[in-house]
Amino acid sequence: MALIKNQHHVAIAIDGPAASGKSTIARNLARHLGLVMVNSGAMYRAVTWKILSLGIDPFDQDAVEQALENMAIGCGVDGCFSTIAIDGVVLHDELRSLQVNQAVSIVSAIPLVRERLVALQRDYLQRTSVVMEGRDIGSVVFPDTPYKIYVDASAEVRAARRSAEGVTDSVAARDHADSARATAPLVVAKGAVVLDNSDHTVASAVEASLDILRSQGLQW
Ligand code: C5P
Repeated sequence: MALIKNQHHVAIAIDGPAASGKSTIARNLARHLGLVMVNSGAMYRAVTWKILSLGIDPFDQDAVEQALENMAIGCGVDGCFSTIAIDGVVLHDELRSLQVNQAVSIVSAIPLVRERLVALQRDYLQRTSVVMEGRDIGSVVFPDTPYKIYVDASAEVRAARRSAEGVTDSVAARDHADSARATAPLVVAKGAVVLDNSDHTVASAVEASLDILRSQGLQW
């Protein structure tokens, strides 16, 4: 149950580069505020996983767009977390594979992919209040929300975080692709407060995020 005092559904946008710690912050905020945490990266990863499963070259934009037309993308909620299913298959660990890590920035740069997923991301707000994390949540998906945080961390801290998770993920290459793309690049959205998460503990990062949201007018 949402603990916030707003009458209408609210969207809290948490954007930032790969491995900045935004998922951990978003998850904890959702728990603290009684909201649903939506992982938009999982949606891009799910489409990418399906494209690779179909043997489609992620650089072949026409083929990706054609496959997208026949793809049933199911966005759900389980407790206080979003779920993602493609053609009825609920996806979890496969979304974090090396192959998906390498291809996701290519697939997510395709405007039609973004159009389809942004619509699904906005649909969540019809049902519930959300903490949504991603790259363009404050700039494109919910540009009008007053609640926006951009979570950053040094390149060294981010690379160390990923390798500590035992995941092979070239975060620098992914960030470059995500920041340089023409459609919805990673930017600090208008009105977002930047939180440098290089030296925070989880608890202090969540406290700092709550302070930012309070300063942006959120009441709970
Ligand atoms: O957040 P995560 O690292 O799982 O995101 C995986 C990839 O999905 C990003 O590198 C980016 O290419 C894409 N993405 C995006 N827009 C979002 C969320 C993720 O383009 N809102």
